[in-house]
Amino acid sequence: MVQLIPHIVAMPYPAQGHVLPLMELSLWLVKEGCKITFINTEFNHKRVINSLSENDDVRNKINLVSVPDGLEPHEDRTDLKRLTESLAEVMPGRLEGVIKMINEFDENGVSCVIVDQSMGWALRVAEKLNIRRVAFWPAAAATLASIFSVSKLIDDGIIDHDGSILKTQGIKLSPNMPIMNPSDFIWACFPDKSMNKMIMNVVAENNERVKFADWVICNSAKELEPGAFDMYPQVSPIGPLLASNRLGSAAGNFWPEDSNCLKWLDQQPDNSVIYVAFGSFTILDLTQFQELALGLESSKKRFLWVVREDLILDGGDSAYPKGFKDRVGSRGHIVKWAPQQKVLAHPSIACFLSHCGWNSTVESVSNGVPFLCWPYFADQLFNQSYICDVWKVGLGLNKNEFGVIGKEEIKNKMDKLFGDETFKERALDLQAKVNSSVKKGGTSNKMFGKFIGWIKTQRGAI
Ligand code: UDP
Repeated sequence: MVQLIPHIVAMPYPAQGHVLPLMELSLWLVKEGCKITFINTEFNHKRVINSLSENDDVRNKINLVSVPDGLEPHEDRTDLKRLTESLAEVMPGRLEGVIKMINEFDENGVSCVIVDQSMGWALRVAEKLNIRRVAFWPAAAATLASIFSVSKLIDDGIIDHDGSILKTQGIKLSPNMPIMNPSDFIWACFPDKSMNKMIMNVVAENNERVKFADWVICNSAKELEPGAFDMYPQVSPIGPLLASNRLGSAAGNFWPEDSNCLKWLDQQPDNSVIYVAFGSFTILDLTQFQELALGLESSKKRFLWVVREDLILDGGDSAYPKGFKDRVGSRGHIVKWAPQQKVLAHPSIACFLSHCGWNSTVESVSNGVPFLCWPYFADQLFNQSYICDVWKVGLGLNKNEFGVIGKEEIKNKMDKLFGDETFKERALDLQAKVNSSVKKGGTSNKMFGKFIGWIKTQRGAI
């Protein structure tokens, strides 16, 4: 009998925190004997290719293809409103084209598509072509639960149809979920307030389309958010994906990783370094950037700091406080992009000053590293509340009367975190729970096994 190989089309939302986990999932699926065509936007495809290291063989494992995102080359891809609208307009036809081409040249055709849950139009394309479909949610199940609950939140008078918050007191989405602050809902946490209404429209379409998906898989573990998974049992936990380090290193970075920082970490004592990183989107103004630098300086602690080229609004090398680099000397190490999972797994790391993006959150949790939380936007405030109030593995940083997190606040919270061993103890407990979920026989591992079984036993495979 001929063994048919399932051919899967995977397409992430075009942002770093979406591309990395879907790429990881794709590599897991390749290991299970699947063929993957991975669709990036042309803009991101170029960045991914340019950031691959010499010994990265992802291109031999995955068919990396690209389609236009509909924006002009000079346009700003961090304008998420413009980008999201353009994708919905331009990409359905392109996705359809890729699927039809595979169906023409691969005799087995496309076995299923795995597309970002935030792109309901992609699920619609697969529906139209009668292809099995999987919605992939790269973030917390609790955030997805809040999105699925939008109609109820409107009915209960907590938000209006535009997503504006009408009641600010804490609520529980279900009796088993922790209290959440409505002003932390993902659609309410964008600097550009016109995003609210746009997200509400997208959410309505996505919530409708996802009802007809064969699977909704989530980059989280039941052990992390039991209440959210109980509330929506159709959401299947298979993660954390990147944190489980099954494959050793991640593929899909938008910037080349600077691995020299690992050598610097090797020279530092165990449990001594603060890792400071804000993911791919966060922007700090000059005052905030300088306060952070001065906070790190006055902490007298060792630090590894990721300063992306576009982290500082209107800033370059001259943005650092005068004499900062000389004063901190070899106690601090600065890179443009780090191999983050390897950094967080390094024994020298004591805590993570993080923007609380979901991937960063689960990567830190899986390594038993406590947090100092500095959320910027989107789901990061929600994630902070899990870190600080539910799991109790970190402390939040408060802004002063000028809306700035001051150097004293940074130093004080560092001292508090380093001075209280219970944060590390709880972080290690949580690490043990989460890591058991992805090991053989664990909840996420079993769910992934079921998922693979479904992929292999259906059309396009034997
Ligand atoms: N990351 C990295 N190197 C860095 C900073 C971040 O590899 O210097 C990775 C990090 O490991 C994570 C992703 O980029 O997997 C960022 O995703 P997250 O959800 O944390 O934040 P976002 O970028 O979406 O705000």
